[in-house]
Amino acid sequence: MKQSFLRAEQVEFIPKELDDGILYVSRRFRTASHRCCCGCGIKIVTPLRETEYKLTEVNGAVSLEPSIGNWNHPCQAHYWIRNNRVVWAAAMTPAQIATGRMHDEAVKAAYFAKVAWPWWKKLWRRILEWPFKKSN
Ligand SMILES: [Zn+2]
Repeated sequence: MKQSFLRAEQVEFIPKELDDGILYVSRRFRTASHRCCCGCGIKIVTPLRETEYKLTEVNGAVSLEPSIGNWNHPCQAHYWIRNNRVVWAAAMTPAQIATGRMHDEAVKAAYFAKVAWPWWKKLWRRILEWPFKKSN
């Protein structure tokens, strides 16, 4: 059955068998999991990391960003989880899916470039500053 609502349940380990309409959240393992809201029964795993998903909780109502897009599953379901509600997206064309994927890749690439940058910057600055520090 197609779900319209989800509620969060804090767990230490994600259970093997999931119930419909529950978003299992494991802070310890920084991951969340739920059964696909279209009712197909597929287990959707959303890692809660900077490059993956962001979970916010306000007064017990959870939201997940970005949207859940099950392009790798037969159901092709696409929806957002906002304030415990399942917001269904209109069906996307293959071209739109490709654009979304490219966007995700660009976001990831930008993130990793930013993470890598300070290391090089520090090393480079240390090399540049070395003789000046010595003479001071
Ligand atoms: Zn599904």
